[in-house]
Amino acid sequence: MIKLQNINRIYGSEDIQVAALKDISLLIEQNEFVAVMGTSGSGKSTLMNILGCLDSPTSGQYFLSGQQISTIEDHQLSTLRNEKIGFIFQSFHLLPRLSALKNVTIPLRYSNVNQQEADKRGLHMLTQVGLADRSQHKPFEMSGGQRQRVAIARALINNPSVIFADEPTGNLDSTTSAEIMDLLCQLHASGQTIVMVTHEESIAAYAKRIIRMKDGHIIEDFICAN
Ligand code: ADP
Ligand code: MG
Repeated sequence: MIKLQNINRIYGSEDIQVAALKDISLLIEQNEFVAVMGTSGSGKSTLMNILGCLDSPTSGQYFLSGQQISTIEDHQLSTLRNEKIGFIFQSFHLLPRLSALKNVTIPLRYSNVNQQEADKRGLHMLTQVGLADRSQHKPFEMSGGQRQRVAIARALINNPSVIFADEPTGNLDSTTSAEIMDLLCQLHASGQTIVMVTHEESIAAYAKRIIRMKDGHIIEDFICAN
């Protein structure tokens, strides 16, 4: 599903260079649930940005579902991102003026799905995350946990190959965090591949595999016992 080969990412120009990722090689199979951990500045977001095709490595190769990413044209890349990848962010990234339903159906705007079909699929996704009765609410009318559920519904609407989540519970209290993690576990149980960044051990404990980063290196990579 995901294959990284000798990935380096160097930020900056000739004078000041920061090597954020150093020779990262990594294999993630379909239906894995991976937590990427590490202190601030260890390279987690840089890694997620490359995995999510939001950024390109300075050197090395990335294959997603057998496709080599570096050789894909820009316009094809945005299609691939829209169809194959679902994103979940710490701060939800919902559009404030749009209803929950319209937020969820944003990814369908770039495909050939008519309004009626989009709304039908959006409502189905909202039902899946337990928000069928909130479809017309705007983000400010919802709690943090509900907003993140909307974001998860949006991430899922194109039936992506993989979900990338960068600190998905970072803005949530512990009870709500547990609810969101239970939802991600359900998705994993139904076959979804998930790669999640977190710095909290209690959140990482929901994952089945933990990758620990330090100074741009992977220093630990193990399958969880249960
Ligand atoms: P993490 O998400 O683990 O906190 P990052 O991937 O954000 O780490 O950052 C890794 C390293 O790369 C840090 O030293 C950071 O300062 C540096 N870095 C991140 N983004 C940039 C950038 N756009 N320009 C220059 N340096 C950056
Ligand atoms: Mg980060």
